[in-house]
Amino acid sequence: MKKRILMLFVFALTLQMQAQTNTGNTEKLPRVTILATGGTIAGAGESETKAAYTAGTVPVDILLNAVPQIHELAKISGEQIAQIGSQDMSVEVWLKLAKRINRIFEEDSADAVVITHGTDTMEETGTFLDLTVMFDKPVVLVGAMRPSTAMSQDGNKNLLDAVMVAADPASQGKGVLVAMNGLVFDARDVTKTVTTSTSTFQSRNFGPIGLIYDGKVNFYYQSTRNPSQKFDVSKATSLPQVEIIYGYADASPVPVDALIKTKVKGIVYAGMGNGNFNAPVGKALERASKEGIVVCRSNRTGAGRTTLYNEVDDAALGFVVADDLNPQKARILLMLSLMETSNRTSIQNNFFKY
Ligand code: ASP
Repeated sequence: MKKRILMLFVFALTLQMQAQTNTGNTEKLPRVTILATGGTIAGAGESETKAAYTAGTVPVDILLNAVPQIHELAKISGEQIAQIGSQDMSVEVWLKLAKRINRIFEEDSADAVVITHGTDTMEETGTFLDLTVMFDKPVVLVGAMRPSTAMSQDGNKNLLDAVMVAADPASQGKGVLVAMNGLVFDARDVTKTVTTSTSTFQSRNFGPIGLIYDGKVNFYYQSTRNPSQKFDVSKATSLPQVEIIYGYADASPVPVDALIKTKVKGIVYAGMGNGNFNAPVGKALERASKEGIVVCRSNRTGAGRTTLYNEVDDAALGFVVADDLNPQKARILLMLSLMETSNRTSIQNNFFKY
């Protein structure tokens, strides 16, 4: 009897010690806030094997409970910011996200932020936040190519990886990151390259900056082009209108002239090759530039730089170039730049700095 009581006592003591150790460990875990915006990672379909599904239907608490392992890596809190397919992403949601993340870090209510997001416009949100989040703490975007109900869904593993990257102190000071398919990318450089493949995210110019394997991230490269100059959007409720025009053989000036009439503030031209245009489109872009619209040449090739004065006399036409930013990323930098200035030299410098 005595022996039994003693054993019970030892058992109770062990449990208590274990509980204390666990509490101690939990307290030491980094605090990661997950901001959910929708996308396929929160998508649900009718069948495990059919492709059809609706993005952004699974709410954040269910998403987080589906991956219990994340709670071993960090003290997790979740917030629903939006519940949309990222094809519906907007300046309004971007501003909401940037303001919320800046507030979280200002108030020191988390050490890192993970954003669950659709893959279609993840690169644009990443670029926007890279330029508007004022803190060096990790911000990691994650999504999925297959909905949460699919047989071999990729969202759970991607979410686990993203929390692991966010919780790793080595992720600080690297700008906004994207964790997808076992790879870590700089949000500035990453782009979606394939419509349906799980290996769709690539940085065509520079490659991934880190590899995730066996619960760890190893970083290999770091961009020197992350922004030293950030854009303060704390008071912004909208951004100057900038639209993108696509270049192709025998294109007409109709879309450019329509934008001149609309009085947009900027046009990003996704040109052929090194940002080239045919004569009628060139004349229309020149008209736009003379009307005070800032014209930024990017290109449709998907990689490489758009360079000044190649086949185009940018100085004479008053154009700026996007350097290595693709058109959709160039649009974001142009909108943010136009919030502060319409001086073309300053705007061009922003493109060479970022
Ligand atoms: N259309 C979806 C979205 O961007 C696709 C995805 O998440 O993979 O929200």
